[in-house]
Amino acid sequence: MDETTMPRRLAGRTAAVTGGGRGIGAVLAHRLAAEGADVAVLDLIDEAPETARRIGEETGATTCAVRCDVTDEAGVDAAFGEVEETLGRPVDVLVTAAGIAHNVDAHEASAADFRRVVDVNLTGTFLCAARVARRLIETDRPGSIVTIASMSGHIVNIPQPQAAYNSSKAGVIMLTKSLALEWIGHGIRVNAVSPGYIATPMTRAVSESDPEMYAEWVRRTPLGRVGTPEDLAPLVAFLASDEAGFLVGSDVLADGGYLLG
Ligand code: NDP
Repeated sequence: MDETTMPRRLAGRTAAVTGGGRGIGAVLAHRLAAEGADVAVLDLIDEAPETARRIGEETGATTCAVRCDVTDEAGVDAAFGEVEETLGRPVDVLVTAAGIAHNVDAHEASAADFRRVVDVNLTGTFLCAARVARRLIETDRPGSIVTIASMSGHIVNIPQPQAAYNSSKAGVIMLTKSLALEWIGHGIRVNAVSPGYIATPMTRAVSESDPEMYAEWVRRTPLGRVGTPEDLAPLVAFLASDEAGFLVGSDVLADGGYLLG
């Protein structure tokens, strides 16, 4: 869809996308901007300012990039404060795409390995969602939060050993439901998207180092291909918008049919 036929369901909104510097988050940030939102790209990577600049240029939206480690409570607080100051309004659309994967046999994994994955994927989602909700509740505004979970929160997908990742994503799904119930009385909807395999820098590392594993992912996906971040973008924009007004605590699978097999 080109920019001229794009729905503008997010006009007047202020969106933030964690992990928005590249991969899924960058494409989601682009879509939110194309649908009319001002967008802040929150990430640790050095490409984030360039991603925000490109999105602004391509969509005409006001964008900014703020360096943010989602595991650092004080840093998260400061980052969202900076976004509000730069964009002029509190964030009322949040997409939490920051995440890491670490494949290691569970019996070989250290506590630090395990904690790091849970810290980024689960605690980081909590800290950002809570920061955004706190400000919305304080200023009596509605909002929408979309968490990026994973089909790995539903199944133990194989062949890669990723107990921490699977556990963290199952946690994100339950966190999403818990927050949805707590905050719906304040007009804040929280929903999750659980993608199947998506072609990004995260999965490219595997396709390059272990083509057989990558081929297995494709073979196990009934649609016959891995997804792209663009496959997720319309869904996330919909969930963020008022069109999804009756969706509260939903977890939408976007996996090319993987969980059917
Ligand atoms: P990428 O690795 O391409 O992008 C993730 C981004 O998040 C990176 O820029 C990464 O930076 C950033 N990030 C990592 N840790 C932090 C942190 N502590 N604070 C802020 N930013 C951080 O991954 P994807 O785009 O593939 O994944 C996006 C989300 O989608 C993740 O939550 C992932 O688990 C989920 N997902 C991905 C699937 C896939 O197949 N790709 C499938 C299902 C879910 P850095 O380089 O520093 O790590």
